[in-house]
Amino acid sequence: MPTHQPRYSKEEKNNVKTVLIKDGSYILTTDENDEVAVSRAKSILIKDGIIQKIMPAGEEQSLIKDVDLVYDAGLRGGIVLTPGFINAHAHPPMYLLRSATLLRNEFSTTEESLVVARKIEQAMSTEDQTTAALGDFTEQQKMGTTFVLSHYHTPAATRAAAREAKIRLVDAVSIASKTDPNASLEKAVQTFSDVDELISPGLTIHTMERASVAELKSVKQVMEKYQNVILTIHCGETVAEVESSIKKHGKRPIEVLAEAGLLNERLVLSHAVHFTSDEIKLLVEHNVGVVHLPTSNRIHKSGEFKYAEFFAHNGTKKIALGTDSVISKSKLDIVSEAFQSKMLHQNSTYPVSYGTLFKMMTINGARVLNQDATVGKILPGYKADISFWKLKDRAFIPYDFENPETLIGNLISHAGNTVRDLMINGQFVISNRKHALINESKLLEELQQRHIQLRDRIG
Ligand SMILES: [Zn+2]
Repeated sequence: MPTHQPRYSKEEKNNVKTVLIKDGSYILTTDENDEVAVSRAKSILIKDGIIQKIMPAGEEQSLIKDVDLVYDAGLRGGIVLTPGFINAHAHPPMYLLRSATLLRNEFSTTEESLVVARKIEQAMSTEDQTTAALGDFTEQQKMGTTFVLSHYHTPAATRAAAREAKIRLVDAVSIASKTDPNASLEKAVQTFSDVDELISPGLTIHTMERASVAELKSVKQVMEKYQNVILTIHCGETVAEVESSIKKHGKRPIEVLAEAGLLNERLVLSHAVHFTSDEIKLLVEHNVGVVHLPTSNRIHKSGEFKYAEFFAHNGTKKIALGTDSVISKSKLDIVSEAFQSKMLHQNSTYPVSYGTLFKMMTINGARVLNQDATVGKILPGYKADISFWKLKDRAFIPYDFENPETLIGNLISHAGNTVRDLMINGQFVISNRKHALINESKLLEELQQRHIQLRDRIG
């Protein structure tokens, strides 16, 4: 695998091992019992990337002399802390395609958009893909996302960018790709060893039409051998995609997956729109993760996710949110995706609550990506992936001081805000609204240049 030379990095700062967040005005998280909990005036001790202790503000005084860094939330006018948000479906190397298919008066279907996109994607170099993914990851970080599932076929580029941006990643690598004819299961398996503290392995099949029954059997064997691997598939996104499965396999996608023995807790189905009630019941019974992408579904006229059916089958715990790529949603913000979901299901039998949306952005995402024991909550023992939001901001104020849960509704319905600071694995990645590791001005310049060069190359 080629070694990528980081090109946008600012001067490397000394890593801090212990951080004390002093007097966080509010912590919004889910607690040990998975209930949404809002606490006031707490301090947090972080050591080696792990949350060690959460204590009432004032009790941290004796610890100050022993830590490498004190973050004083009081001095910053009050801070709201949330777990870093989790985006369970993205295509980061497609970032150079922003405006390539989206800015038309008539939006295209997924299939139509992919025809245009594929032509551009095939003309991209590894450097284009790396720069694009870096643009994608850094944009997501600025809007509070700390953990992303990438569904794509360029592990070298995707991982180089993730390492440079220091974002947590499940890199699901394609086993068969129309864009990259060299993609194979064997090659994807080779990437399983190129992981680290922030990067976990995964596999992807674009849609069920792309895989033969024999390939699915091989995937099952690989999944049994490598117990930390996630498999993700675009599934039930469009009517045409379900029909293509019937044409290839004689069966609907879920039936094919069930027969292949692939319905389990490490399967992640994105979009999940065109499923029957029985199929949804089966997915819930087998603890399969689903990713809800309301903006993408609306833009591509794909259909509407049946939240009420998942609710009725007691299956909302494994629903996460995703952005898809910039050809399906220009702003790669998970909070605006939550608000889009709120609007979509408002008239349903079971409207989705702000508390549930908050879980979808945090702990449900962690559960879908099989890392809920370590990320998605601000609790002792969890990894310190934390978003720091300014309290004195229109996203929060005014709120009900007696009922601080209103902060969650305010944050979601305001949507699209940027974080003041962002911590991943105990390290500050965004500081005072600027990327702490990446020269963003240089990055944006190069994104623009590469986009134009790409247009010229394609003609
Ligand atoms: Zn997608």
